[in-house]
Amino acid sequence: MTLTALEKARAGYVVDEDGCWVWQRGFSGAAKQAMVWVNTTQRVPVARLLWEAENGKPLGRMVLIPKCDHGQACVNPAHKWMTNRASQQKIAMKKAHQNRSYMQTYMAKKSQMKLDPEKVKRAWDLRLGGSKLKDIAEELGVCISTLSVLFSGKTHKHLSPLGFLGSFGLGQKKV
Ligand SMILES: [Zn+2]
Repeated sequence: MTLTALEKARAGYVVDEDGCWVWQRGFSGAAKQAMVWVNTTQRVPVARLLWEAENGKPLGRMVLIPKCDHGQACVNPAHKWMTNRASQQKIAMKKAHQNRSYMQTYMAKKSQMKLDPEKVKRAWDLRLGGSKLKDIAEELGVCISTLSVLFSGKTHKHLSPLGFLGSFGLGQKKV
């Protein structure tokens, strides 16, 4: 007996405690979607197939985007937003942007690891003495972004003037 694509789709997931239909079989394509074979040459995305079966109408040019944490791994039609390609792209751009800000923070923190306690102390000395970020960066051989993260106190809390230099750091403040 040969199963239809829809039957294969319905047999391919397990329902978890969040009501997610977690796909257990193959993922493919650039978006790593759950797919089933319609025949020997053609595959269709499971989420679309199930959505159409559930809603009794074709999606046509509309696209489905994941709304639960499982993303593409969940094929529950109730866990998808239906939208058009233009909005899908907007959402994708927004996501890419968020990822990029994350990467920038990550890179800044990573480059800051090049700062050893001696350099951090020197950086603060120069800063409290009124030196410009550009000059401090040049002297220590680090990026300006590294220094601005340092001085804004987002990381290296243990190396801040209060922790590291104690009253010395405060005493250097100009009145
Ligand atoms: Zn889900």
